[in-house]
Amino acid sequence: MAGEKLISLIVPVYYEEEVLPIAYPRMRAAMEQTGHEYEIIFVNDGSRDGTMRELRKIAAENKKVKVLSFSRNFGHQLAVTAGMDIAKGDALVIIDADLQDPPELIPDMVKLWEQGADIVYGKRKKREGETFLKKFTAACYYRLLTAMSAYPIPLDTGDFRLIGRNVADVFLKMREHGRFLRGMSAWMGFESVPLEYVRQERAAGKTKYTLKKMLKLALDGITGFSTKPLTMPLAIGGAVVGLSMLGFLAVLVCACTMGAAPWLWGLCGVVLLQGIILLFLGIQGAYMGRIFEESKGRPLYIIAEELNT
Ligand code: UDP
Ligand code: MG
Repeated sequence: MAGEKLISLIVPVYYEEEVLPIAYPRMRAAMEQTGHEYEIIFVNDGSRDGTMRELRKIAAENKKVKVLSFSRNFGHQLAVTAGMDIAKGDALVIIDADLQDPPELIPDMVKLWEQGADIVYGKRKKREGETFLKKFTAACYYRLLTAMSAYPIPLDTGDFRLIGRNVADVFLKMREHGRFLRGMSAWMGFESVPLEYVRQERAAGKTKYTLKKMLKLALDGITGFSTKPLTMPLAIGGAVVGLSMLGFLAVLVCACTMGAAPWLWGLCGVVLLQGIILLFLGIQGAYMGRIFEESKGRPLYIIAEELNT
């Protein structure tokens, strides 16, 4: 069994000099426990602290450690993407550097993969050491995202996951700029199984996800996976047009029975026009949505299995 397959661990790092000396030994131990060959790919996302010094030390001591260093900060999602691009593994595991996702779970993920899962995603049962605000906004956001998205994104999951080579190859084909890996993974389908865990407190240092970065990710999640906001005016416009029609009818009835003030006609006319404008906005949105979908240039379909082809 040992050494049969190669497992790649991908770790995005941004200003993590304090975390790396604690995180690397735990990651290495976990990788050694899987019973397979391994490589660990650290992607330095433009840190200017001692992160590279730490990574150089680690890479010098262990040739299974690969390091990519960005010219500037491109963001967590692109750091993970760069790691996926060079990973050679039969399975890839994505993990945060800060030990909030326990590396000790990796052997369990690998086991589930060996049993046939294409994707094993970490599902947070509980989050430790995070503020109420973060937990609350995260909970609301994931529910909103699920409501908006055509492809259900599992609740309370992050990027901590294992993906098989088949899934990784599809990721390689998806070169869209606004990347939201969890959503892309949901779009792809495949056999996904959750692995529940308690999200730990950060081992050292502070969160690198500033409010601005979080908002960008949140917006990428919605705008990248749903064209619903673009076509929403269609439904609202339709309702407003319907309302104005009812208004016309009511005014007509009044005019025939007890008489109606002339401005009531005008009011209904204005409402009708507003509704028509909204409808056309929605129609434009529908076209924009199509352009957007085409511009992503995603594969048209994904084959999970072939027989006798
Ligand atoms: N990270 C990154 N680039 C960034 C921000 C974060 O590569 O611009 C890395 C960071 O080093 C960590 C992971 O992404 O390994 C998750 O970041 P963090 O723990 O700060 O986010 P949180 O867990 O607080 O959401
Ligand atoms: Mg973290």
